[in-house]
Amino acid sequence: MENQRVCVYCGSSRQCDAVYLKAAEQLGRVLARNNFTVVYGGGAAGSMKSLADGVIAEGGRVVGVIPEFMVKLEWVDPRLPETIVVRDMHERKRRMIEGADAVIALPGGCGTLEELMEAITWKRLGLYLGAIVILNTQSFYQPLVRLLDRCIGERFMDTRHAQMWSVVGEPEEVPQALSAAAPWSEDCRSFAALT
Ligand code: AMP
Repeated sequence: MENQRVCVYCGSSRQCDAVYLKAAEQLGRVLARNNFTVVYGGGAAGSMKSLADGVIAEGGRVVGVIPEFMVKLEWVDPRLPETIVVRDMHERKRRMIEGADAVIALPGGCGTLEELMEAITWKRLGLYLGAIVILNTQSFYQPLVRLLDRCIGERFMDTRHAQMWSVVGEPEEVPQALSAAAPWSEDCRSFAALT
């Protein structure tokens, strides 16, 4: 896949284990080398900063989408060549995923989890049709993947919904996971609700 737009959800914490920051930077490098345009939250902290570090180091394209109040708090990364300032968090999430060919979730806090769950929900409803790749550094996402499996096992979701996401251990595996993602179309609306 070339010249594609990838939306990356990542954490803002500076206190998480360095292994997560390293994975974020490496993902930025891998995406830039594979010619993806990276869209992310535009923050200057934590995995967000590391992701941008990686993209910038490889001369890649990176776009930050950040709400006005965070700009006022000086949370925006001043190095970014392109920053989209939006009104609020809802607009940020919409602008990040709009036009994205794929979504990648790195380990993070409640903000990242919410973003990932929204992408999965939108895909289930046929509002977003691209790949969703979960970067499972240090098995961080194991409990969530198990919970999603349980949602399916307990018939809150359909078995076909498990095709909406894929899980990889290393940033280097992401491009392959993106091209191997199961096709998804608005036909998914026929099994979105379990009746
Ligand atoms: P979390 O995973 O809880 O750290 O949240 C990450 C998400 O929360 C980001 O994608 C942003 O939506 C938002 N966020 C929280 N703190 C910041 C920050 N300091 N700078 C920019 N965005 C932030």
